[in-house]
Amino acid sequence: MMDVVRQRLPRLGEDPAREYRLGIMGGTFDPIHYGHLVTAEQAREALALDLVLFMPAGAPAFKLGKHVSAPEDRYAMCVLATAANPAFYPSRFEIDRDGVTYTVDTLRALREEYPANVKLYFITGADAILDIVSWRDAASIAELATLIAATRPGYDIGQAQASIEESGYPFDVRYIQIPALAISSSNIRDRVRMGKSVRYLTSESVIGYIQKNGLYRFEGNERDA
Ligand code: ATP
Ligand code: MG
Repeated sequence: MMDVVRQRLPRLGEDPAREYRLGIMGGTFDPIHYGHLVTAEQAREALALDLVLFMPAGAPAFKLGKHVSAPEDRYAMCVLATAANPAFYPSRFEIDRDGVTYTVDTLRALREEYPANVKLYFITGADAILDIVSWRDAASIAELATLIAATRPGYDIGQAQASIEESGYPFDVRYIQIPALAISSSNIRDRVRMGKSVRYLTSESVIGYIQKNGLYRFEGNERDA
């Protein structure tokens, strides 16, 4: 298993004389959409990231008990949506691990995989950053990675900032303002189920995949998020 995982991670950090920056965009990606892609691209540019890994969660810790599409489908859509960007790499890292996914475990594993001249940057939207102080072993997350917190319509980044400051954990957070896209995976799933258009909310390739594989068509796929 570890060999498979290692093979699938892109190489980074070859030149010991320079620093490299690896972005990690975690999420359920059910499905991936333009909100995720714009967030990752703006983060890449703002923080001069060398690569961004799109890492669909295997069994997301916070979505237990809710219906989530098969990891292979969520991963496949990440492959399709990121194909044209040379800095974006879909990653099987979490879906190939057994059990519940915790961000701290992923960051620890990446820290072991990459040399010390590769710095880790964990990218989140304003909703996820608000929760991060309550994630498992938040203090270690703070030590392992710099956080990039992007604005997201409907969520108050100031509130997230306050909760991070109150937590007392030594988080290093870079706040970035990005073009507002009020797109969510939940809304896309709802629209597909209702037979409404999702065109221009995500890539044509992802829409094709959803249709071809009959994703989100049934009530059982409905869940709050
Ligand atoms: P769901 O509705 O199922 O929760 P989602 O659209 O929130 O899906 P996730 O996979 O939960 O997508 O989110 C992954 C990451 O992407 C999170 O850090 C989230 O904050 C961020 N994100 C998602 N959509 C946007 C958006 N439109 N703008 C900025 N950040 C976003
Ligand atoms: Mg979400």
